[in-house]
Amino acid sequence: MKKILFGIFAHPDDEAFGPAGTLLMEAADGVEVQMVTLTLGEAGVNPDNVPNLMDVREKEWRESGRLIGARKLHYLGYKDGQLTNDSMVEIGRQLVDLITNEIRSAVDETEIELMTIDLNGVTGHIDHIVAARATCWAYYTLRKKDSRFKKVRLVCLPYQHAPEPNVDWIYMEPGRKENEIDEVIDARAYREQIIAVMRAHHSQRADCDQHLRNFGDSIGLNYFRVIT
Ligand SMILES: [Zn+2]
Repeated sequence: MKKILFGIFAHPDDEAFGPAGTLLMEAADGVEVQMVTLTLGEAGVNPDNVPNLMDVREKEWRESGRLIGARKLHYLGYKDGQLTNDSMVEIGRQLVDLITNEIRSAVDETEIELMTIDLNGVTGHIDHIVAARATCWAYYTLRKKDSRFKKVRLVCLPYQHAPEPNVDWIYMEPGRKENEIDEVIDARAYREQIIAVMRAHHSQRADCDQHLRNFGDSIGLNYFRVIT
């Protein structure tokens, strides 16, 4: 059965340091993966002091999409770190239009899934929270009229990786307990490809190194809360 999966994230590297394994696995299984980024991550770290971090990060994101096997990539044109309640409403509408347009020629049996970051933003970043809430709004709006919409997967962090609230930067909730997690995807077999996807975000290499240290052998184990 044909399936289209829209991965909707705030920043160009959110797919890499989260569900890259699942996206790689889905694309390898023949799913049509489309990636959406709300911003180009221009507020991120800039270790090479490039004057045009936004352009650099767009290239990195496109390379990441290519490595994942995404069929299409969409940038919605927002500024990194500047998302608000108003933009959340606007993004929800933009997502409805974009998805409606992209599924226009899909057959009746097609399954359509959305994926985004957990509603608590995982790290607590407001852009992640806006992306998650706009995605859920778009999902429920579309599903009302179209039964091909099956679920939203919310990428979450399990409790064992984050047992305590973290206040090193912004407020980050503890990870989700076992009874809050609906689906675990084991894509550890894709480890090398996942690392290549993470490395594609060369400007964010410090995050990549940190991620490898934090997650070690569990890279590719992806945890989701699921909305149907
Ligand atoms: Zn992010």
